[in-house]
Amino acid sequence: MIGVRWLKARAARWLGVAMLAVMVCGAQADPAFALRVSTAYWKTPQDKILHYWIDAGSFPDADQLALLRANLTKATDDWENICRDCGIRFIEVANRSDATFLVVGVNVQRAFLADGFNPSDPRDKWVLKIDRSYFNPRSRFDKIGVLRHELGHILGYRHEQIVAPEDRFVACGWKTERNTDAASVIALTAYDPESLMHYPCGIEAESVLFGFSPLDIDGHRRLYGPNPVAVAVPDAASPMTGAPAAGTPQPVSAE
Ligand SMILES: [Zn+2]
Repeated sequence: MIGVRWLKARAARWLGVAMLAVMVCGAQADPAFALRVSTAYWKTPQDKILHYWIDAGSFPDADQLALLRANLTKATDDWENICRDCGIRFIEVANRSDATFLVVGVNVQRAFLADGFNPSDPRDKWVLKIDRSYFNPRSRFDKIGVLRHELGHILGYRHEQIVAPEDRFVACGWKTERNTDAASVIALTAYDPESLMHYPCGIEAESVLFGFSPLDIDGHRRLYGPNPVAVAVPDAASPMTGAPAAGTPQPVSAE
């Protein structure tokens, strides 16, 4: 299925706790930093090494398997390269038992081209499914881009259009999702129609690249990038009260 700016988050309810922890330590509170402290998704350096195993036998032929493997390598490289210092790495492994998630060919007859998972899903759902239709040479969806988008879900990001303006939502025919649960997402950036996690509108797009927008990269770096440098409270005698200082950034609202 995030807009890179939308983290499907049970983490949301922990956000306040994390913010307090940051403030108590006298650092300049940053919502993304608090999010990183609180979120359970790919947080530790070990968690950030995502091993995947491709179920070769589930793909109908060697050519499709080779194409999928090559495209997945490019898509994972793209995510790694927009933030080398995030520590996110995707590595193919030879043994299923070593994998964080599986990559499996399925035949759902175009119900989707590919379907990732969200890290809040149960562990047994951590499967990236690839439909036969993914390999259609006439598809208007960029094949590497489709995988970039699905890897976005795997990193915790939801569809961007869930917060699109209502009229746009209707006009574009996005029927399946709307952000109706205020606690289920956390905005990392402003709404971004150019996000790779945003569905195209109807058939207005001749081809769909699913490339990173500048805000995609900003949001991703905020969530997974190096920790912000803590800014000491100027008056050493006054910190550690836990009370937010004037002008302290507030937690991102969970729309
Ligand atoms: Zn999606």
